[in-house]
Amino acid sequence: MNFNELSARAGSAVVNFCDTLDHDKRKIQIAKAIASGELKPGTRRIRNYGPKTHKELCAWVGLPCPTKIRKTWIVLVCDICQSQLNEPGALVFSPPMDGRNVQKWHICRVCWETKVSRMIDLKAHAA
Ligand SMILES: [Zn+2]
Repeated sequence: MNFNELSARAGSAVVNFCDTLDHDKRKIQIAKAIASGELKPGTRRIRNYGPKTHKELCAWVGLPCPTKIRKTWIVLVCDICQSQLNEPGALVFSPPMDGRNVQKWHICRVCWETKVSRMIDLKAHAA
């Protein structure tokens, strides 16, 4: 089997995971498994399948690099309670300060429900 484009470890992961010998069908099978979350670092189905191999196979099938996706999320923290945002929260913008600078706050769902939404009672201001 010719896997010149893959490292030995990634190549053997493909061989062990796929039930077909067809190169293109293997790519599709790997892409579907990654997209569904079936194939991910630490999976028991493939021995020695870690983040590095996962990243390599994502690139091989044309999926976005998983480490780049995570970096944009990992830094988001609620500006009220300082807890890390693991799901999309609220965004609050100030009016332009000094005529141009706008401040932005990330707010988790809990702080939104318990603090911010109470200050913005939209129904009370409806005409
Ligand atoms: Zn919060």
